[in-house]
Parts: sequence; structure tokens; C-alpha cells
Amino acid sequence: MASSQTDYYAVLGVSRDASDADIKKAYRRLARQLHPDVNPGEEERFKEVTKAYEVLADPAKRELHDLGGDPFSTGGGFGSGFGFSDIMDAFFGGAGASRGPRSRQRRGQDALIQVEIGLDEAAFGVTRELQVETATTCPTCQGVGAAVGTSTRRCDVCHGRGEVQQVTRSFLGQVMTSRPCPACQGFGTVIPHPCADCGGDGRVRTRRSLKVKIPAGVDTGTRIQLAGEGESGPGGGPPGDLYVEIVERPHPTYSRQGDDLHCTVAVPMTAAALGTTVTLDTLDGPRPVELRAGVQSGQTITLPDLGVTHLRRQGRGVLVVHVEVHTPTRLDDEQEELLRRLAGLRGEDGPDVGQVTGEQQGFFHRLRDAFNNPR
Ligand SMILES: [Zn+2]
Ligand SMILES: [Zn+2]
Repeated sequence: MASSQTDYYAVLGVSRDASDADIKKAYRRLARQLHPDVNPGEEERFKEVTKAYEVLADPAKRELHDLGGDPFSTGGGFGSGFGFSDIMDAFFGGAGASRGPRSRQRRGQDALIQVEIGLDEAAFGVTRELQVETATTCPTCQGVGAAVGTSTRRCDVCHGRGEVQQVTRSFLGQVMTSRPCPACQGFGTVIPHPCADCGGDGRVRTRRSLKVKIPAGVDTGTRIQLAGEGESGPGGGPPGDLYVEIVERPHPTYSRQGDDLHCTVAVPMTAAALGTTVTLDTLDGPRPVELRAGVQSGQTITLPDLGVTHLRRQGRGVLVVHVEVHTPTRLDDEQEELLRRLAGLRGEDGPDVGQVTGEQQGFFHRLRDAFNNPR
């Protein structure tokens, strides 16, 4: 006899306000795990779980339990007033549900291959010839799995039903269970003479080459779906899809952020002060970039339409040139003399010519700004 202290909600692992559907679901899950046929060692827990379900699935008993009473003290022993079919229903998901034999034909799995491309290919698109190795329908047996001149035959064990029934004894009495037929794995048919080329699976692995058009604007992680180019299904089933995943090689000069490209141009201090032109080897060929006199380290120059083509809309990203001014580190006597004269002329030869500024106006702020807002 159950103790009235037992918390049947805890036994089923549901909350106190669980709906009837939640309770049924929780019981079904546990009952499948703990069923004596599956797990002979768990019979005690299975009984406990079933008891909990018997109480919580019955509104009157549940109320009594909620009030701290013992639902089993009035109704007699376990199982009384509770339809056996309800329990079986909870077990097997509907009484008398017939599954029938399963088809040998199934859809094939999707396949994934990675393709490495360069930045210019990502920017403008490219057509690639790929070597793909997938399962394809066996040409010898056309996917049927039977050797040429033979055919599949109805299974003698299950008479084509794909499942066999078994009577087992449990604490509930005799229980009829059905399971996939072990002789035919549930197919309902057997292949007496399997095809020698595919061993009866209906598929063989083949290598083939495939032309893939990679559109402009793809990036690392972009997947291109090729419908029906994946693995062929067993038993001559339809093929899955092939996904081509893009991996973009890092570029020696340009780093990519979205569809924008970034690069750094280092200029000597003198050139930065006097202004200069730098020829940049862009994806569209060489382009002169003018650095105006007085350009500062951390300044950026934005060149429109030299970035990567947008994948899903018109136009292209920008190319952002980050300027880095280099101070000379080795000066010969003459150069040092010239610089001292220049400093004198500019009144920059005394102490305290350096200005302390807040971080807001400083180089680091500008640099960070340029990276955060590349446009
Ligand atoms: Zn075959
Ligand atoms: Zn069978």
C-alpha cells in the first residue's frame, strides 16, 4: 500500500500544475525506459511510476493526493478502477496502431563539402569544378538490391508484415508486444540473392565531378545548396541535397569586414608631411591613392566600390585605407642636422613641445573609430 507521503508529481518529474497531456507524456517516456521488457531491473520503479500515473491521470484521485490523502486507501488495490487499455494506450501511443512494413526506399542524406576560394573569387564569383564522392544508385540493380535476374521475396517469418508479435509476461499479466521482424529488419521482404556490386543496399560510392557556380559576395560559412546532388537514398530512394560551404583564404593585404575591405598604408613622416601618392594593388587592378600633405597616423581614406560585391543586393562594399605614419629611427649626421634646423624653425626644439590631450582626441580614439565605423 502506498504511503500518502509519496509525491507522485516528483515520481513523474512534472510540476504540480502539469496538464493531463504533460502527465501522460512524462509517464509514457518513463514507462518506455523502465518497462520490464526493456529494463528488467527497474520493475520497482516502473510500478511506482505507473502508480503515480494512475493517481495523477484521475481527477478525483489527483485531488485527493493534492489534499494529502491516500488515493489507494479507498479504492482497494493497485489497478482498480483504472482501465488496462488506458495504460496500454499510454505505452504504445494508441491501441492497435499498425505500423506495417517499412519501405526499403528512403531519401538519401544531405552531403556537405567545403571549398576554399580566394578573396577575388569571393568578390566577383567563380565557377568551380568539384570532385564529389557520394553514394549513388547502384547501376547494376537500379537500386533494388537484388542480383540481376533475381528479385526480392516476401519474408516468411512475418509474412510481409514487417513486424512480429510477441506475448510477454509482465506484472500486468500477458502483454502483446510487436517489434520489427528480425528476419527482414522490418522491410517485409528479403533479398535472397543480394546484388554483388552494392551488397543489397542499392547504392555504391562514386566519385564524380560537378560544376558549381559560386556567386559574387559569398563569405566564409556561406552554404550553396545543390538540390538532389547529395547522397542517393537506400533502395533506390531519392537523393538528398549537396551543400557547398565556402572557406575564404585570408588575403595578404586586405582584411574583410562584411563586404568592406581594409588595408594599411605605411608612409614615412616626411612623405606624410609633404603629401604623396601610393599605388594600391586593388581587386580591380592598380589604383593611385592620394595622401594629402599633413595626413596623420590613424586617418582613413575610403574608396567607394572597390570592396566585395553584395550577395543579395546591388553594389559593392568600400575599400578603407588606414594610414600609418612611420617616424625615422636611424638618422645620419646630416639628416639629424636638417631635422634640428626644421624643429628650430617651427619652434619645436625646446622642452614641453608635446601636448597632453585627452584620450578622446588622441590617436587611439581615431583608430578605434575608424575600425568601428569603417565608412
Ligand atoms: Zn546493386
Ligand atoms: Zn520479416
